[in-house]
Amino acid sequence: MGLPAFSSARKRKGGNVRETDNISVIKGVGEKTKGLFAKLGVHTVGELIRLFPRGYQLYERPKPIQELKEGEVATVSGVINGAVKTGGNRFRQVTTICLKDESGSIKVLWFRMPFLKNTLRPGERLIVRGKLVRKREGLLMEHPEMFFPAQTYEKKLDTLQPVYPLTAGLTNNQVMKMMSQALEKIELEQEFLPEDMRMKYKLAEYNYAYRGVHFPKDKEQLFYSRKRLVFEEFLLFILTLRRIRQKNEKMKNSFMFQRQPLLEKFVEDLPFELTGAQKRVWGEIERDMNGAHVMARLIQGDVGSGKTILAVLALFYAGLNGFQGALMAPTEVLAKQHYEGISELLEVHGLNLKVELLTGSMRAKEKRETYERIRNGEASLIIGTHALIQEKVEYKNLALVVTDEQHRFGVKQRETLAAKGREPHILVMSATPIPRTLAIILYGELDISVVDELPKDRLPVKNCVVDTSYRKNSYRFMRQQVEEGRQCYVICPMVEESEAMDAENVTDYAKMLEEEMGDGLRIACLHGKMKQSLKDEIMEAFAKKEIDILVSTTVIEVGINVPNATVMMVENAERFGLAQLHQLRGRVGRGAHQSYCIFMTASKSKETKKRLEILNHSNDGFFIAGEDLKLRGPGDLFGIRQSGLMDFQIADVFQDADVLKLANDAAGEILEKDPELEESEHAMLREKIERYSEGIVLETTL
Ligand code: ADP
Ligand code: MG
Repeated sequence: MGLPAFSSARKRKGGNVRETDNISVIKGVGEKTKGLFAKLGVHTVGELIRLFPRGYQLYERPKPIQELKEGEVATVSGVINGAVKTGGNRFRQVTTICLKDESGSIKVLWFRMPFLKNTLRPGERLIVRGKLVRKREGLLMEHPEMFFPAQTYEKKLDTLQPVYPLTAGLTNNQVMKMMSQALEKIELEQEFLPEDMRMKYKLAEYNYAYRGVHFPKDKEQLFYSRKRLVFEEFLLFILTLRRIRQKNEKMKNSFMFQRQPLLEKFVEDLPFELTGAQKRVWGEIERDMNGAHVMARLIQGDVGSGKTILAVLALFYAGLNGFQGALMAPTEVLAKQHYEGISELLEVHGLNLKVELLTGSMRAKEKRETYERIRNGEASLIIGTHALIQEKVEYKNLALVVTDEQHRFGVKQRETLAAKGREPHILVMSATPIPRTLAIILYGELDISVVDELPKDRLPVKNCVVDTSYRKNSYRFMRQQVEEGRQCYVICPMVEESEAMDAENVTDYAKMLEEEMGDGLRIACLHGKMKQSLKDEIMEAFAKKEIDILVSTTVIEVGINVPNATVMMVENAERFGLAQLHQLRGRVGRGAHQSYCIFMTASKSKETKKRLEILNHSNDGFFIAGEDLKLRGPGDLFGIRQSGLMDFQIADVFQDADVLKLANDAAGEILEKDPELEESEHAMLREKIERYSEGIVLETTL
């Protein structure tokens, strides 16, 4: 690939729109459209142009039907052979045709488009573009985009079209129109990266990159545009982190901690011995809490490595020293689980600390009373959701804040909390597997401890990838496990064309399972369309062993700890990303019993099997995600973000790991030359960072 245009874009005429303007300055944007964009977090023109495509459609030449492969998205040009049929049921009407070219024929079907029967005629030429799936009756194309008459495809041939994140009421075409208007009219900001950095790292110019990422002329322009924007995002992020870190290093630890014999006894009395890794990490936490500066530490450890007990030790340490400690969980279910676990530990070990639960769904009166006990210091350990950092909560002497699993806090929230008292120690727990080299960059403001050892009694999860003929056996196996007192999860087939189908699917599946498994088994289902309170209720019932088999979509909570659950069966496993399957697998294998993962797939394709087999060979989430990416290839929707890890706008930690390293190098070079970014060539960059850090949501800094 050659180099992109590095020079500034030509001056735009009539450019009178600024990034800070409200989107209503764009022609055709009324109240309704404004409301819809607000749902996507877009209020200003600047936010609009940072609404990056989720991916791109590449309209390639039609392929002979004979050469189609399962799993790919392809374009086919053919003639409708025979009648246009409609079928299906009330919930899901299906229109089917048979499309034929010189090389063969294929079944093509659409959901919920019965009117097609009136537009499509046998013998007509049609171009369709869609995903190929394998069903019992063979390979077929599901719900494709249709080009009719076939010539309409010509115009799109070989172009890349952005695919935007949408919301109901807003179409991709509308967004494209607005975007092109915005980019046409806008006076984009000036280049803020130093020229020599752009040359060294081969970074396209700012304006070029924005235009190129939305409307690339070709893959090359897209590549360079995206690289520039990814680099920029990482660079701002890293520079912000480094500044926070500098600040942290200066923050004095104003809490006096003393050795607590009761805590040492507590560790001795635990029913298990801490693993070597747990002991080491606890040592690091204790040293931090006693140190000259406040702690800011990240604890990384795979699911089931026993991070919770470390949080508990830190909390008890604070409590026994007469301070308050808070533990924040991402969901109410998790908060309750922690609250119950900690209450029990306190009771069993006869520790005299008062623990409180504070969640958003508590009644106003209950909340007020809890606030009061937090304010007057009666409560020493406080467990909850983000309700913990709301303005109304006033702490007496908060010395420690622990956050569990994927909780994201903004710099603002951190400040809110600090404003409530002295700067507390911060402990962040994460199960996201990131190699150390990347973690050091991404969590730059934190020290990192790794719990890299599983408890001794832990047996590795046994995996199998099976086809649907094994389903009956799986059911029998689950029954056996339940009879032995264990519990199971079944993750239900997802239906791609509509989320509304989820509920139906899960409910139907649970019913079917009930019939299949017969009486005596307690089966429940869980899906995203349920009210939060109902979801919580079901999760709690499962945790209390009142449910044997939980049929669910992927909504089952990250971090839920039901050590008694030993089977995770995933239907249509081929439809999930491997990283997601790895997360699901983490829900089992959390106790002393042998656990099992059954990945069920209807797919006969060798590639699918090979992909799923990766899970058999590795337990390393990062490795798994990487292999997945390699195998699937960039596909036609390239640029799509795989991991969604840490809320970046365009960058992806896994996919763009190389650019992340480059940005880190560049950040180092800048700071070495000009630590405070005072030189004139860094003035714009500095301003950009200041604005950026206002809105930045760091996963970790609280
Ligand atoms: P995670 O790291 O995923 O948060 P948890 O802290 O929930 O894992 O621990 C998983 C399970 O392992 C819990 O039931 C916990 O009591 C248990 N556990 C923790 N440490 C040990 C240990 N050293 N030996 C045996 N079991 C342990
Ligand atoms: Mg946990």
